[in-house]
Amino acid sequence: MGKYSAQWNECRRIQTWLLSWFLGGLVAPFLLFIIPIQSQPKTFRQIAVFGYLGLWGIGTIYLRIRMSHFRCPRCSQYFFGNSRTPLRACPHCGLQRNEDA
Ligand SMILES: [Zn+2]
Repeated sequence: MGKYSAQWNECRRIQTWLLSWFLGGLVAPFLLFIIPIQSQPKTFRQIAVFGYLGLWGIGTIYLRIRMSHFRCPRCSQYFFGNSRTPLRACPHCGLQRNEDA
């Protein structure tokens, strides 16, 4: 067990959630076609679609914010900051991702 194991595990956990939530949200509408939603009233369909999109969007934004607020285990600065892609090293102290001590 390394010095920063707990922090890197948390980072991986958030990233796994983000990826799963995002990709799951892309696949879920296709699964909804299995449910006979077309036979439901139009109001129900609108509520279902907007509710789904709202929940998915809010969840994605929430997880993205959690990811961007992950702090570097060594220098406590934001590890990812505003980067759109996951970085391999901290831009502040150079700690490599998943590096221990
Ligand atoms: Zn750092």
